[in-house]
Amino acid sequence: MNIAAGKAVAESVRTTLGPRGMDKMLVTSSGDVIITNDGATILKQMDIEHPAAQMIVEVSESQEEEVGDGTTTAAVIAGQLLAKAEKLIEDDVHPTTIVEGYSEANQIAQEAITSHILNEPLDDKTLQKVATTSMTGKGTGDVSPSELSKIIVDAVKHVTKSEKVSRDDIHLQTRVGASSSATELVKGFILESERAHEHMPKSVSKGKVLILDMDLEIRDPEVDAEFTITSVDQLTAAFEAEETELRGYADTISKAGVNIVFCTEDIDDRVAGFLSDKDILAFEDVSSDDAKALSRATGAMRVATLHNLSNEDLGTVDSLEIQKFNDDELTFVEAGSKAEAVTVFLRGGTQHIVDELERAVSDGLDVVTAAVESGEVVPGAGVIEIGIASHVRSVAASIEGRKQLAVEAFADAVEVIPRTLAENAGLDQIDTLVDLRAANDSGRAGIIAKGESGELDDPVKHGILDPAAVKREAIDSATEAATMIIRIDDIIAAS
Ligand code: ADP
Ligand code: MG
Repeated sequence: MNIAAGKAVAESVRTTLGPRGMDKMLVTSSGDVIITNDGATILKQMDIEHPAAQMIVEVSESQEEEVGDGTTTAAVIAGQLLAKAEKLIEDDVHPTTIVEGYSEANQIAQEAITSHILNEPLDDKTLQKVATTSMTGKGTGDVSPSELSKIIVDAVKHVTKSEKVSRDDIHLQTRVGASSSATELVKGFILESERAHEHMPKSVSKGKVLILDMDLEIRDPEVDAEFTITSVDQLTAAFEAEETELRGYADTISKAGVNIVFCTEDIDDRVAGFLSDKDILAFEDVSSDDAKALSRATGAMRVATLHNLSNEDLGTVDSLEIQKFNDDELTFVEAGSKAEAVTVFLRGGTQHIVDELERAVSDGLDVVTAAVESGEVVPGAGVIEIGIASHVRSVAASIEGRKQLAVEAFADAVEVIPRTLAENAGLDQIDTLVDLRAANDSGRAGIIAKGESGELDDPVKHGILDPAAVKREAIDSATEAATMIIRIDDIIAAS
């Protein structure tokens, strides 16, 4: 039962694999619709109750978290490992033997991946190919994966220092409206908050930035106190004292030469008015995450007091521009080459297009990150899986006992990827697999999507490259989940 449930879930995403994979339309009980080709998204949204099937969902989740791509691959391989295990169990191979065989085969597979690493330098062109490969087959509206790949590589390069990618410094912002070809890279951050006062400037060039973690309001007394006012003069004096305090904030900020304030707390309307009078642009209630990103983008420190405000605390922008999108405003905070955070601004005609574009671009960013950090890429289009299967099979011959059967089954299971790529490209699965095995004995051939059908050719020639890390993780997490399910002999209701 466990095996059947796991297999069924894996099977549900199989048709989405590769450049000719189809999309799924997921409909919730309340009628919300998601259209996607992304394995992790499909599995996450599916209403799955069976605990073993849930483990396949976890495979793709952990794949998504670790490397960001290869989620369908991992789930599909896990499903095949289960299917092959089912046959072995029917043939009286003990589940523990299967688990041992699969784990050993996983190690052998990892060696095969290492031996397939290309020794091409990972220049921008190669990295763009890796990004393009991860996005091919995903709905990206009217912008092609190869155009997007340039933006993606620029973004990753911008936040890379000595081969370490600061992936958290790449942000995505989306707006429906323009066509997806209007997608662009902003060197800085795009803030969603509104201005604190409607008369504040809508654009600033070469501005000084203050990021403030305190509210600009009347300070609360530290003790509960009550003041009794007995004359109009005293009341006026009290109002004036408040006003002086509030005006003091604006004066201090203005004296420091600040033109832009991002405040994570409240700004009193009167302070906003004073700031506006001085042509200072301010935003209140900025979230802590946004403040962090703005700090990375502008170089401003986060300060919690206005005492001793120094120039080192402040950041700078080349330009700040507020633009209107339908009903809301977005603030583009750009700091050029010195910005340590970048934002990809994604556009599309409808919400569905923008959403899927966002998933595709985030896959692209993740694979380029993986490639830059490990420096390792392997040929895609099924070549790596054929290579793994053939290496595992050749080692299997020297493994004694029934474990050998499990190791061989593992090799067959991994070949589900080229078989599926062939099937989705309109080729005969069996014929193609036989041809691929023969072609990869002496050379390198994968399934290249072309027109209505596919052809066999060298994927490297066609720029189809995957990061080695994605393949390593896919095989590893698929093995782990499959062996965990195989080990279970009973489901017991627990209190
Ligand atoms: P996953 O969720 O596993 O990443 P994808 O649908 O993105 O699933 O498919 C990935 C597979 O498609 C990889 O094996 C990759 O090498 C292959 N692939 C990508 N682009 C092409 C292409 N143009 N021709 C053939 N195979 C491709
Ligand atoms: Mg992919």
